[in-house]
Amino acid sequence: MSVSTCDILIQGGGPVGLACAAWTLQKFPEAKLVLLDRNSSNDDDLVSADSRGIALSHGSKLLLDTINAWPKDFAQIHRVHVSQAGRFGRALMTREELKQDALGHIIRYRDIHITLRQALRVIQAKCPNFVWEHIQKDTQESQIQAKCIVHAEGGLFKTQDWVESGKDYGQSALVGLVEVENAEPHQAWERFTSEGPLAVLPSHYGSNILNLVWCGSPESSQRRLELSDDNFLIELQAEFGSRIGRFLKIQDRRLYELGLNYRKEITNGNEVWIGNAAQTLHPVAGQGLNLGLRDAFLLAEKLVEVFSGSIEEHSPANIHNALQSYAQSRKVDRTTTIGLTDFMARVFTSNLAPIVMARGLALSALQWLPPVKTALARQMMFGRR
Ligand SMILES: Cc1cc2nc3c(=O)[nH]c(=O)nc-3n(C[C@H](O)[C@H](O)[C@H](O)COP(=O)(O)OP(=O)(O)OC[C@H]3O[C@@H](n4cnc5c(N)ncnc54)[C@H](O)[C@@H]3O)c2cc1C
Repeated sequence: MSVSTCDILIQGGGPVGLACAAWTLQKFPEAKLVLLDRNSSNDDDLVSADSRGIALSHGSKLLLDTINAWPKDFAQIHRVHVSQAGRFGRALMTREELKQDALGHIIRYRDIHITLRQALRVIQAKCPNFVWEHIQKDTQESQIQAKCIVHAEGGLFKTQDWVESGKDYGQSALVGLVEVENAEPHQAWERFTSEGPLAVLPSHYGSNILNLVWCGSPESSQRRLELSDDNFLIELQAEFGSRIGRFLKIQDRRLYELGLNYRKEITNGNEVWIGNAAQTLHPVAGQGLNLGLRDAFLLAEKLVEVFSGSIEEHSPANIHNALQSYAQSRKVDRTTTIGLTDFMARVFTSNLAPIVMARGLALSALQWLPPVKTALARQMMFGRR
């Protein structure tokens, strides 16, 4: 079905756009909402798509549970070990000291994406005015007139055509699945190397198959992408060390360019930007999608408030005020998460001697000052509301 007018238009059927549609429709099934989705309507077409492991926080799990969109394949993180290659300073965070079932969960992007699509289809069955339109990849402009336009077009750094505020870290992330000899179940490792962070994270395939996110200069990352499997594993072993035994196998290597892009203003008139369309972060702290889901959840609440009321309440002035109030409510969480991630991306990749020293001290302080560690972990797990 094709429509030309609606109340709410969501552009982008990635995880954040889907979640925003689902939370809006769950609370207000009559919403006149159109979702424009560039992906195929067939889930099978996404199965071989993006397989990178994404760390989702406990807060995100609680949010996704409300719409039955928690994927069945995931790995829990019970401990995170943070260190820097060849220097002093390390910190260990455990679920016990934070009194949580898990510090986080690792899930493939495509599983999050497909599970959200399935959850939205279930909700769709009770929504007479909801239209989910699959459009061509090269369709740029929507012809649909909407009272409110939600931009959830997402994107990766450098594939985005706007850089209002941001920076190029001169880094790429090489991701893949790596098999090792002797991994501790549920343990995540984050190691800061001279070129960037190297994370080895659990996967649902078993305790010795791990998700790798290796950040380095674009040149080194490209070279590592092209190495034979054997030579790649030798380099990885040299950088990571022998804590989890030998690295035996690598598969599904992919490269992503990294940087920070964010909008200072996330609303303009009747338009609002959420998820990666509002901010694209370095993956060092695993916060991009977690922040985007919080955007989607809080925006859905505002949309329901405005559009479930009488027609007079949908006036342009009311919509504008609701979006302004949404933007205000996101300020602290956005600023903190963007700032913390940017700080980590810069500080943990610097080789300047005073910064290396301060970094070692900071990791030691984290280890020996439980309140600081708890505060940081809570920010990572729940964000600020
Ligand atoms: C290597 C790497 C590791 C990461 N690890 C983590 C992590 O551990 N934890 C975490 O929280 N985050 C992580 N992230 C970030 C996370 O992937 C993003 O924050 C998240 O995907 C954003 O979701 P989104 O829906 O906003 O955008 P996207 O995932 O980019 O989805 C946007 C969708 O909109 C569609 N689209 C684009 N233009 C249009 C249009 N004009 N009309 C209609 N549809 C359109 C696209 O096809 C796409 O399907 C990582 C990112 C990278 C690169």
